[in-house]
Amino acid sequence: MKLPIALQSSELGKVTMAPLPESYAIEPMHDSYGRRINYLRISLTDACNLRCVYCMPEDMTFRPRQELMTDEELLFLVRVGASLGVNKIRLTGGEPTIRPHLVDLVREIAAVPGIKDLAMTTNAILLDKLAQPLADAGLRRVNISIDTLDGDKFHKITRWGNIDDVWRGIRAAERAGMTPIKLNCVVVRNFNEEDMIDLARLTLENDWDVRFIEMMPFGEISDFQQTNVVTFREMRERVESAFGPLEEAGYDFVDPSRPFRIPGAMGTLGFISSVTEPFCQGCGRVRLTADGKLRLCLLRDNEVDLLSPLRQGATFEEMRSLMLDGAFHKPWGHSLSEGTFAENRAMNQLGG
Ligand code: SAM
Ligand code: SF4
Repeated sequence: MKLPIALQSSELGKVTMAPLPESYAIEPMHDSYGRRINYLRISLTDACNLRCVYCMPEDMTFRPRQELMTDEELLFLVRVGASLGVNKIRLTGGEPTIRPHLVDLVREIAAVPGIKDLAMTTNAILLDKLAQPLADAGLRRVNISIDTLDGDKFHKITRWGNIDDVWRGIRAAERAGMTPIKLNCVVVRNFNEEDMIDLARLTLENDWDVRFIEMMPFGEISDFQQTNVVTFREMRERVESAFGPLEEAGYDFVDPSRPFRIPGAMGTLGFISSVTEPFCQGCGRVRLTADGKLRLCLLRDNEVDLLSPLRQGATFEEMRSLMLDGAFHKPWGHSLSEGTFAENRAMNQLGG
């Protein structure tokens, strides 16, 4: 498989980035609804070593590397965000572990003043070897995608994946101390609804957080996604039909996942109901796409281009104003029930 090569700024020709200031005062950003924006999800690449049916078509094409942020550009924007009160970062993709120089990049992001929490969402295919170096570089936690425990089904859902690689990745993340381990499962009708039971059973003897996610519609595969979504209510009923009533396990309104527990279990079960019961009130997230756009809401197309002005030499102060102003316009709510959904990107370009 051909993996992308990260471009360095020196290869971009005549682009000169403005210098970074020696220090900066932290000015927290808020949106027009008064939500404090302190969480940045960064997509490190739109490419991936899998092709999950709920994420992208098998013949997906990816952006040319010149359009993607270099390490230097990404770090510049992280510092801009940190100067505006971003203290929590999640790296995602595509698949973040295929980005070259990932460990060095993680080390540099973790060292940015103000960044307190650095986590990653990954399919874990390459985590076996990377978990310890990433933990040593400052990565604190991982969310790992696994939609079934059945190897054949896993291959069918991901189109290319081998579930043994994921298990090796999970064990390596545990050994490296990246706990609590969170496992993400997108529930897709006629693919893996019944697999929820085996996944939920994992929490009986593992201190893991297994999270069931409603499938969201994006771009060209939205028909498939809309037709096959399994709602939070259905998922909960299915799990309760096997284990009895679930206990609530301490709701935190900034967390999109509603936590429950099978009575007596070591770990928790979460439900992420972005489609049927969105959680906009606690949303302090903005996203940075791999091509340098500030995405204000996962489920809406609104974006602010940060990479073009950065490449045109905008100063740190100018970039701060752009991010601050963009975040102020973060929308509230989605219109999925009216048939309006994000069309300009697929999930692999957003990162979840
Ligand atoms: N490749 C990494 C992975 O799969 O964990 C990170 C990127 S992936 C886009 C981030 C998360 O989004 C994963 O947990 C994935 O299962 C989830 N996801 C992908 N497509 C989705 C969809 N249509 N609706 C809901 N979640 C989705
Ligand atoms: Fe790749 Fe993650 Fe999308 Fe699956 S969900 S195709 S692993 S980016």
